[in-house]
Amino acid sequence: MGKTSSRGVIFLYNLRRHVLEEIQASQPDQVLRIYCCGPTVYNLAHIGNFRTFLLQDVLRRLLLTSGYKVKFVRNITDVDDKTIRGSQQAGVSLNNFTQHWVDCFHRDSKELNILAPDVEPRATGHIAEQIAMIQRLVDKGHAYTTVDGSVYFRIASFPDYGKVSGIALAQLESQATNSAGQRNQSDEYSRDHVCDFALWKAYKPEDGDVFWESPWGRGRPGWHIECSAMAQKYLGPTIDIHGGGIDLCFPHHENEVAQSECATKEPFVRHWFHSVHLLIEGQKMSKSLGNIYTLKDFSEKGYDAATVRYALISAHYRQTLNFTQASLEAAQSALKKLRAHVTAMGISRAVERRPVSEWHFFNKAMEALQQDLNTPKCLGELFTVLNQRPTIQADFINELLTILWILGLYEPLLEQQERVQEIPPEIAALAEERKRAKAQKQYAEADRLRAQINAKGWSITDQKDGYQLMPN
Ligand code: AMP
Ligand code: ZN
Repeated sequence: MGKTSSRGVIFLYNLRRHVLEEIQASQPDQVLRIYCCGPTVYNLAHIGNFRTFLLQDVLRRLLLTSGYKVKFVRNITDVDDKTIRGSQQAGVSLNNFTQHWVDCFHRDSKELNILAPDVEPRATGHIAEQIAMIQRLVDKGHAYTTVDGSVYFRIASFPDYGKVSGIALAQLESQATNSAGQRNQSDEYSRDHVCDFALWKAYKPEDGDVFWESPWGRGRPGWHIECSAMAQKYLGPTIDIHGGGIDLCFPHHENEVAQSECATKEPFVRHWFHSVHLLIEGQKMSKSLGNIYTLKDFSEKGYDAATVRYALISAHYRQTLNFTQASLEAAQSALKKLRAHVTAMGISRAVERRPVSEWHFFNKAMEALQQDLNTPKCLGELFTVLNQRPTIQADFINELLTILWILGLYEPLLEQQERVQEIPPEIAALAEERKRAKAQKQYAEADRLRAQINAKGWSITDQKDGYQLMPN
């Protein structure tokens, strides 16, 4: 078998340049700076959001396992039109309203075994930093105020505008005009250019009691500025990897780059990690189709969080994931197989997971992750090795546990394993009875007992020297 070194060979695809680029820390402290746009907290995060957060989690785990030092920042958007409207409808303060959804997000993230970020800054906790950045942009001539007390970013002042998404200004201009070339009504603001975007939004009565004082009067920050200000505060002017769903590429990330680079005069992002959206049974998730699913919906249907996690990471991040009932079933049976392997190898929490210096057994699974985070290929390679029924040795188990940890399946599998060890006496008795029946060649009776065991939520597999019981 080939060998794979464990250090410093992780590549991500650069969509603009069409090449794989090696991930390296840019700063002398060798800490890889990662910023991911987090949830807007006005309801439960759906599984599309979690697809994105899970793939970021796998990337982070891969980097940590590969010897990188990582600082991972993921923000919480806790002020925007939706959060304000939601809090007003609920009749509670913005803070109380968003805190509830933050708690739900944390609970679901924990269930899905997503590592907590190193820093989780909130927009409302960083108003001063946002005002300071807007002020800098105004001072440098990149932003201007309007009569109502709003502040806009002037995209004409940033020649690189459009480079992240590959969108051309002319294209944007044409989208904002009708066939006669006149500006659409909705775009008739006091903006210089139709695509100039708000850095600071002047107070409107609909905002109720949500406002902050600023040099431009009462108001609140625009959405994009929070990420620029918080990324700079916690990671410095340049971040190594910036993540988010593909929908954020334009205009959000385009605007983040414009604000940050104009404020700091440094490059803002070295690698983008945009994950493609998830579809449900071939359709876009939307309120009108009533197909927005959350973790709770699946747990009510009997699918645990590990199954949802498995299904959500089983497609490549640059490909659409069509999430179907069949993909959940497939995830469930794959996890069951993994659990059977883990059990058969006698793996428990007592088995220590050590850093892997050289990969001998699961090198192809590891390489799949190192080459642009190919999670489906990794899972395929994992099963290929396991199905070859190799001779088990300590290094083999250590590599297996490391791959499982990167995929975030290690803890759930061990937890399930521990639950397995608590076999209810009734099930254990049925299994023993079946063993006796088989020994006496009473096969019909043995089958009847197996069916009884299955009906009680357990499955029994015969093994060389006995049997194995597992919950379904
Ligand atoms: P939001 O809470 O809407 O700000 O979104 C949080 C994250 O989820 C962002 O990175 C979005 O790009 C991402 N996201 C939203 N919808 C989907 C989807 N259907 N599939 C994958 N990612 C999504
Ligand atoms: Zn952002």
